[in-house]
Amino acid sequence: MAMAGTWDIAVVGGGIFGLACAYSCARRGLRVALFDKGRTGGKASGGIVGAMAPHVPEQWNPKKQFQFEALCSADGFWSEVDAASGLSSGFGRIGRLVPVIDERGLELALSRRQGAAELWGDRFDWTHLPEGHDLIAAKAAPFGVVRDTLSGRIYPALACASLRAAFVAVGGEVFEGHAVDEISSGRIAGPWGVVSAEKVILASGVEGFAMIERWTGRRAGSGVKGQAALLECDLGSAPQIYADGIYIVPHANGTVAVGSTSENTFADATTTDGQLDDILFRARAICPVLQAVIVKQRWAGLRPKARRRDPMLGPVPGQDGVLAAMGAFKIGFGIAHKVGEVLADFATDVPVDLPDSFTVGHHIS
Ligand SMILES: Cc1cc2nc3c(=O)[nH]c(=O)nc-3n(C[C@H](O)[C@H](O)[C@H](O)COP(=O)(O)OP(=O)(O)OC[C@H]3O[C@@H](n4cnc5c(N)ncnc54)[C@H](O)[C@@H]3O)c2cc1C
Repeated sequence: MAMAGTWDIAVVGGGIFGLACAYSCARRGLRVALFDKGRTGGKASGGIVGAMAPHVPEQWNPKKQFQFEALCSADGFWSEVDAASGLSSGFGRIGRLVPVIDERGLELALSRRQGAAELWGDRFDWTHLPEGHDLIAAKAAPFGVVRDTLSGRIYPALACASLRAAFVAVGGEVFEGHAVDEISSGRIAGPWGVVSAEKVILASGVEGFAMIERWTGRRAGSGVKGQAALLECDLGSAPQIYADGIYIVPHANGTVAVGSTSENTFADATTTDGQLDDILFRARAICPVLQAVIVKQRWAGLRPKARRRDPMLGPVPGQDGVLAAMGAFKIGFGIAHKVGEVLADFATDVPVDLPDSFTVGHHIS
């Protein structure tokens, strides 16, 4: 029999954005159903890297502030989710090391220390360690390293599993294998049937851009491929490393993630190749402890990049009751919980103060 029903909120897409929105709405007592064409956490959000890092302090703006606030509140959110689910998201505020490779970098590091102190207050540090760090090869850090204590890490696939379970624990319903083909005010439909909802949150990642393009006739975004690897290596809660465009992220489960490529053109979004070997080679030169360890998994996914790079959140022009939660791009895990709160505000008509560059209109104008 075809499915039918009525909910306050229907969320389309169960990646980290859709799950966070669904959870925040359900926590406010709304009846929420989440639909995914495959399984929750089965696309970009099912990955292995999970770095959460602050923007540099210069040219501070509302976008950087949004991400900073999200980063500061991540511990509270993920510990609440893990307590509700009984699972572990792998969140940890492990901090970050960035090698300084020349005099210009040293000057910048020292000026950023000043900026960070002004913006972060005494809650988090941004320190220059002239002597370097045990995890980083001395020749990769000739001018020492910068260490911050604000950066964090999470294990993406585990975070999705924990958030899904927490959503169900607060009364949410999940429908996997339910592709949504049509959305119109108050109604979503697929081969499985039709259901009604007061508000629909479109969080279907890269594929969601096509739906916005169909409605507006404007290009909304695209997918940027990334490849990463997971190594068997227990570094405990050692800081993550960011060097030469590469993230090295120690996880709580005895693995270290190394990523990522950033590819605008590719033949297959799901395969890995020599570009990942190159990243691994460079990562091992920076962090010698990785040299002898086994690669456990190679992984690739498509990051949803909105046309003008920033997240794309809130009402979709011309589509009554439809809200977008898209454009997570490279920072989805760092901001998802704040995006969930913002979307729950939109859904319940609470006034929202959002950077202009995050609105749907900004991307499709
Ligand atoms: C290699 C790599 C490394 C990364 N590293 C980091 C990192 O270190 N830190 C960080 O914060 N981010 C990182 N990211 C980015 C992060 O993974 C993304 O920002 C995030 O996962 C996107 O989440 P999403 O919910 O928007 O999309 P997705 O996870 O893609 O979820 C969209 C969901 O919508 C569903 N869907 C699609 N169409 C429909 C439909 N018609 N009906 C129903 N359901 C539908 C899909 O099945 C999918 O489950 C990385 C990404 C990659 C690829």
